[in-house]
Amino acid sequence: MYTRLVLFDIDGTLLTTNGDAVRAMLRAYERVYGTRPVTDGFLMDGKTELQIVHELLAAAGLDEARVTAGLPRFWASYVAELERRLAPERITVYPGVRPLLAALRARPALLLGLLTGNIEGSARLKLARAGLDGFAVGAYGEHHRDRAALPAQAVAAAQASVGRRFTGKEIVVLGDTPNDVRCGRDLGVTTIAVATGLYSRAALAAEAPDHLFNDLADVPAVLAAIEGRPAGGGAHS
Ligand SMILES: [Mg+2]
Repeated sequence: MYTRLVLFDIDGTLLTTNGDAVRAMLRAYERVYGTRPVTDGFLMDGKTELQIVHELLAAAGLDEARVTAGLPRFWASYVAELERRLAPERITVYPGVRPLLAALRARPALLLGLLTGNIEGSARLKLARAGLDGFAVGAYGEHHRDRAALPAQAVAAAQASVGRRFTGKEIVVLGDTPNDVRCGRDLGVTTIAVATGLYSRAALAAEAPDHLFNDLADVPAVLAAIEGRPAGGGAHS
């Protein structure tokens, strides 16, 4: 019997591709749309990849109909380019992530999932190359421009997968951006922010997450937060 649905963001939370994903996307823009959008000063963190594509190409002067028409080819080109250039040694997995995921996988009451702005193809590729697995369900960034739409999608995917409808604090959203915290907080879920991405601890604290960590290295403390137990509150039962 599952008691919690635990949803992880990917970039800035579990890992970073150290710019390879952005470079792969830039190649795909050139191939499919014939333009290389300006990414300097453009904030991608906390946005869905669909939102990023629309915003960057609108800024480059492309009309929306043309952008939408090119999307199937664009996603395919992006994933192919990522597949070509993303080597395991190019990826940084953040402190605590591997032992935390191992501990979570050992707890059958927890259903692990993804809540990410990545499209499914890029999410799967990054995780596979990083050697991270165990995510049973996911909500991805190819169908919604607004990250706030993703939690409901993840909850629906979990219900389809295990036949249980998770609600409120049973849903745990773990991410590295103010957007991640906001999209969970507005739904009354448990929010856990981690400052391994671009945002400072102070910037994340301003969003009032339920829990805030510098990184995920203190696995017992993060487990307690996920399971809704007091930190340092003794043995897991
Ligand atoms: Mg992130």
